[in-house]
Order: sequence, then C-alpha cells, then structure tokens
Amino acid sequence: MKLRIDRLIKTYENKRILDDLTLALDDKQVLALIGASGSGKSTLLRMISGLEAFDSGQIVVNGHEVVESEDADYRKRIGFVFQDHNLFPHLSILENILLVLEKVHGRMRSEVLPEVEALLEQFGLSEHRHKKPHQISGGQAQRASIVRALAIKPDLILLDEPTSSLDPILTHEVLNAIKVLVEASIDFIIVTHEIGFAREVADTIVFMDDGKIIEHGTPEILETPQSPLLKAFLDKVLSF
Ligand code: ADP
Ligand code: MG
Repeated sequence: MKLRIDRLIKTYENKRILDDLTLALDDKQVLALIGASGSGKSTLLRMISGLEAFDSGQIVVNGHEVVESEDADYRKRIGFVFQDHNLFPHLSILENILLVLEKVHGRMRSEVLPEVEALLEQFGLSEHRHKKPHQISGGQAQRASIVRALAIKPDLILLDEPTSSLDPILTHEVLNAIKVLVEASIDFIIVTHEIGFAREVADTIVFMDDGKIIEHGTPEILETPQSPLLKAFLDKVLSF
C-alpha cells in the first residue's frame, strides 16, 4: 500500500481524538498500529476505511483521496475485521460470506462459490461452513471474518484487535491465519497488542499516544525505542 496522511484532525465533542497526524508510507505491505487503549487507533482505522468523516487534513490510499463517508466504491475495496467477528448470528458462515459478495458487490453466487469454498478450505473452515457463528469457536469465527474480508479481493484489509477477545490458543490460531495474508502479499493494517507478532510480520510500526503518532519506523523501533512514551508502553506490555 501507499498511505499518505497529512495533518489529520478528528474531534468528538470538542476533544481532539486524532491530533494532527502526518504519515507517509510507500510500498509497505503490513502496518502494525500499537498504543494504549484510547489513543485513537480504532478511530484512525475508521477514518482510513472511509466509514466516517474527519474534521480536516487528508488521507490518500494508493493514490485515492478518502474524501468523505459517502465514498461507497472506495469502501467496497477495503476489508474490515473487527475485534468481535461481526458475523450475522442467524446466517451460516458460508451465507455470511456470500451475503457481502452478492448484496454489496453484485456478484453471482454460482460465479463466486468456488472461490469462497477454496478460501474456506485454505483457512480450515470447510467442515464448519454450514454452521452459525455461535456453533463454532471464537477463533473459527474470527477466521471466517478474515475470509469474508479476503473474499472481496480488497486492496487493503484493516484489522482492529482481531485477537483481543480470544484465549491464547485461539489467538495463536488466528495469528497464523493472518500470516496467510502476509504470504499472499495482501496489504493490511493491524491494530494489535501482540507485540511479538507485530515485530515478526509488520514492515512498519506506528505507535500512537493520546491522538498523536509518537514514533514510527521499522520493527527495529521496538528494540530501541527513541521516545520515553514508547519505551514506557513497551515496558508495560512486555512485563509479563
Ligand atoms: P483505541 O482504539 O486506541 O482504544 P479509540 O479510537 O477507540 O481508541 O478512541 C479514542 C478516543 O476517542 C477515546 O477517548 C474514545 O472515548 C473516543 N471516542 C471514540 N469514538 C468516539 C465517538 N463515536 N464519540 C465520542 N468519543 C469517541
Ligand atoms: Mg480500539
């Protein structure tokens, strides 16, 4: 992805949640966004996704300027994976994935079914495809959510703490599924507290605190943080 963020400001109720963010990345595949709760990571992802308008500044993704929340064509090219899978509870895993392709992307079921079946197979979900979200584990549901994002052949996938509601075993399972994205050369931005995973898969780390980008760079910044805030954050997350 090419990502340019210039002087981005977002306020809620007169409080600056994103406080003058500037960032320029060229030809990066994986960006990991880290920082304490409330630092603005999810808000930044929503701004990048075009789901919500910002106050001022500019976001340009792969040459496309994200102008407003009405940008339906752009939004169709972005996959989103949330903390809790966000699958429709009354639909099977397969139907959840087909729904987006049929209703949002106007694709024919007969045309997309083979691709979707192949993705379900690749992510170890074939035998669960007719089950509803509550009939599978949280890790399987989160993998289904990744398949749903992938099935639209997005330009970019945004993952917001995809493992934070999972136990360590399921977390491992989902992180392995995310590694499939790395190997398939899919561009993504992941918000995560899994620092070891971020170090392993990301080519860029962005550390936020209180609505600001404090430090960014290669995973090397996790070994030798320059700012006291990143150092303190890492001391806290890595202390156990
Ligand atoms: P993070 O994802 O880093 O935990 P968020 O982006 O969710 O942080 O939130 C950053 C700040 O913005 C928090 O203080 C949160 O309370 C506030 N915030 C987020 N969304 C809204 C909203 N829709 N209305 C008001 N305040 C919000
Ligand atoms: Mg968040």
